[in-house]
Amino acid sequence: MYFLWVVDFLKNLTNDRFMPHGMCYQWQPATLWSNVIGDSITALSYFLIPAFLVYFVSKRKNIEMKGIFVMFAIFIVSCGAVHTISAVNVWIPYYNLAGFMKLTMAFVSMATLALLYLNMPKALKIPSPSELQDINEKLKAEIDEKNKLQKELENQREQLQKTVQLLNSTQEAANIGSWKVDFKTGKSVWSNQVYRIHGLDIGSPTILKDGINYYREDFRDRVTEVIERARIEGKSWDEEWVLVDITGKEIWVRTTGFATYENDQVVGLEGLIIDIDQQKRAAISLEEQAIELQESNDELESFSYSISHDMRAPLRAINGYAEILKDEYSEALDKEGNRILGIIHSSALKLGELIDDILAFSRLGRKELSKSTIKMNNLFKQIIEELPDSKYWNENVKIDIAKLPDCKGDEAMLKQALYNLLENAIKYSSGNENIKIAVGSISKGADEVYFIKDNGIGINMEYKDKIFGVFQRLHSAKAYEGTGVGLAIVRKIIERHGGEIWLESEEGKGSTFYFKL
Ligand code: ADP
Repeated sequence: MYFLWVVDFLKNLTNDRFMPHGMCYQWQPATLWSNVIGDSITALSYFLIPAFLVYFVSKRKNIEMKGIFVMFAIFIVSCGAVHTISAVNVWIPYYNLAGFMKLTMAFVSMATLALLYLNMPKALKIPSPSELQDINEKLKAEIDEKNKLQKELENQREQLQKTVQLLNSTQEAANIGSWKVDFKTGKSVWSNQVYRIHGLDIGSPTILKDGINYYREDFRDRVTEVIERARIEGKSWDEEWVLVDITGKEIWVRTTGFATYENDQVVGLEGLIIDIDQQKRAAISLEEQAIELQESNDELESFSYSISHDMRAPLRAINGYAEILKDEYSEALDKEGNRILGIIHSSALKLGELIDDILAFSRLGRKELSKSTIKMNNLFKQIIEELPDSKYWNENVKIDIAKLPDCKGDEAMLKQALYNLLENAIKYSSGNENIKIAVGSISKGADEVYFIKDNGIGINMEYKDKIFGVFQRLHSAKAYEGTGVGLAIVRKIIERHGGEIWLESEEGKGSTFYFKL
């Protein structure tokens, strides 16, 4: 039934009961051929255009709205078909077929129109070539910028690598290592130097417990304690512990550590390990040595103290008997005997002075400092009042004292030191007609430096340190009397105050003694 209907329909399409269209052209060649050639060429191009469209769509990947291109192709083909049948109709009058084809073309053109209408907003959104060009330019610029950033990033990465290398070599040179512990994983990250300090291969896996176990057993409780305190209370530490490296060697290290936080929660620790073994051992040995030196010094001091003390009684006897001899038996002795007696007497007196000085010096080491605020101008005034009793006093002396800042110290001790310095200034200027002594002070940073300046014989600066030693004298007893203990006492007093004494001098021009407390 359906088949019969199709046969019937096709028959109707090719119904040739009509007159061929050429009749309408009255078979006039010019009219006929202009129509036929026009229709044929148009049909040919209408068949070729879709072929190009199909070729274009097939070649262009990702082309948008392919459907429209296909629809256009169908539409143009149907136009081609209509022109073809128009040419055919000149001789063969299949007007039903022509009508059917025109209807088909009308349907296809409407469908194309509808498709165009529906796709117009989308089509408008497709960027134009110039827009695409702009986008392209922008993209290019973005890519350039990205490349630039990438390069910068690479440079920075290189720089960072160099910094890490530098840090590693600095750590190595300074024997400092850095470490990190993550409580969540229990894992530690060590810098190369930390591995070196432990004697481990760089990069060996480490956990917190291992780190603690590298410390000598007697330090482990302390290590655990500070770690716990950092973990719970966030307290940092800076301590010196003994680490036992992989070979069993003990190394003194200084370790510092602090907690690291995430949302106010302690999540780890970070810190440094510094190899201080050499310094520590040197300090420890210096500390033994210092104690030993102090002990032997103390021993020597008490020995010289007791000897000096014990020598006083026989000396007093020599002195006393020499005086008795002089007073009561000088007539019984001849001139030479009296001269020798005089030498015995003055030598005994000299020895007495020496013993007194040694006793004064030894007592200094034993005496406790009793510090108070001292008005230096008052102290100098007291000393100047007492100086005329000194056997080195000289009427030609003019002492000029500037306004001095107060200081803190043991007044009696400082009085002794300043007395010795002023007495020396007078003694070693004794040849001058006008002895000028100036006392003053200068501020050096936070320190107040006092000075006593004379215009005496001066000191060869080669001996600037030597003269502060016990019994060290630069002059014979004939030229200048003395025991060589005075400046040793001064230095000891200044040093017991935590101070320092030094001098500037030029032979023949005078000396200036400086001290700070
Ligand atoms: P003494 O004065 O008893 O010899 P000191 O210990 O006081 O001992 O002084 C040590 C030496 O320093 C002195 O022998 C002297 O040569 C030198 N000396 C100290 N003070 C002065 C001074 N103001 N001018 C020159 N020389 C000085």
